[in-house]
This record gives sequence, structure tokens and C-alpha cells, in this order.
Amino acid sequence: MAAPRDEQERLITLAEKAAVELEGAQPRQVLQWAKDEFGDNLCMTSSMADAVLSTLAGEVIPGIDVIFLDTGYHFAETVGTRDAVSATVPVNVLSVRPSQTVAEQDETYGPKLYERNPDLCCHLRKVRPLQASLSSYWAWMSGIRRDETPDRADMPIVSWDPKREMVKINPLACWTQDDVDAYVAEKGVLINPLMYDGFASIGCAPCTRRVAPGEDPRAGRWAGMNKTECGLHT
Ligand code: SF4
Repeated sequence: MAAPRDEQERLITLAEKAAVELEGAQPRQVLQWAKDEFGDNLCMTSSMADAVLSTLAGEVIPGIDVIFLDTGYHFAETVGTRDAVSATVPVNVLSVRPSQTVAEQDETYGPKLYERNPDLCCHLRKVRPLQASLSSYWAWMSGIRRDETPDRADMPIVSWDPKREMVKINPLACWTQDDVDAYVAEKGVLINPLMYDGFASIGCAPCTRRVAPGEDPRAGRWAGMNKTECGLHT
């Protein structure tokens, strides 16, 4: 259940304080703080591009709910990664689906809405389902990092998410790609096979393409469109 109104002021102050105190902290320390503060009122999201945050969270907060937005447009490899995480990592993977199937959406809005109005498509298939599923918690975590895009360069490790009226935590915020690679090698972390096939950032199949060596990893998302985020982290 969402935090009651009279708790929200306390959570806003808590988030501001934690943003300062946890600045530069390693992911395990952030995860331990989140577990101590929120217990069962905590969840995380995963795009299933890799299982880095799921694996770290499984170490520190075994059984944590991991929300996967099952848009109906995912690559088979992404769905396979979700199933492998669910079977091998000690977390509770929850597949959250939009209110309409792709066929129903096509009937309502016409086919290939992602080509004509990707913001609306993302709203219907990602933002709204996430909003509904997060309403059961007081805090949510994601695996986004500061080094991924210029828009994410200044994001705090902990903040108040005013849109969803809950605390947002980014345990990997301070990690670089090198840190991720070292952890993956050390723990044998599950990686979506597409990451070894030219995809540097993975979203829905119609809106994701391979990138060339040296190209911005996010350049393959909504390529050719004036869009860089799906609206989950903005
Ligand atoms: Fe639709 Fe593309 Fe957004 Fe997926 S990423 S929800 S297909 S616009």
C-alpha cells in the first residue's frame, strides 16, 4: 500500500538526507539502507537487459519484488532473460502487463502506434502499468546509472519521486560501465544475449536497433525520433 499522507513529509525529508549521506556509496550499502528503511514496502524494476541490480538485490534483500514491464513488444531474448532471472536469482519477478494487449491497442489506436506516437505508446504500455504496480510500495529502485546519458549525469542516489509520491532509489548511480563489467565477470551475472549482438541498450523490439562500435549506447533507442526516455525516469 502507498505511504499514507502523514508519512509522506517524513519520507521527503528522509530522501533528502539520504541523498547527501549516501552520495558516492557502493550499491550494496545503498541496498542495505533501503532494506532497513522500507522492508517489504520496497521493490525494484528491471528491463532485463542484464541481471546486475537483480543479482545485487538478491544478495542483500532476497525475495525482493522485481517488476518487469511486459509490454508485449519485447525481444524473445528479453523474455528469456526474465525467465532465467526468475529461475536462478533469489528475487520475486513480477511481470506487469498493460490493460490492453497489442492487438487490442491496435484496434483502439491503429497499428504501429510506436511509429506515430511513441510517447502515447510508452504511456499506455510502460508508464501507466508501472504507476499502477508501484502504488503498493513506499519506495522503488531502478538500475539506471549516471554514465548512461547526459540527462542522467546528475541524478541523485535517493530522491523523492513527486509523480508517484514515493522514494526513488538508484543504487547503481555511481557505478561506471567498468564497475558493471567487473561485477558481471566476478559473479557470472546473467546478461541478455542481445548485449553480445550489437545492442547496447535494450527496450521494445520495434524501438531498439543495434549500435555501431563507439556509438552512444542509447543511440539505438527510438533512433530517428526526438525521444530519448520512455517516461519512467523523468
Ligand atoms: Fe511502445 Fe516503443 Fe515505448 Fe515499447 S518502447 S512502449 S513499443 S513506443
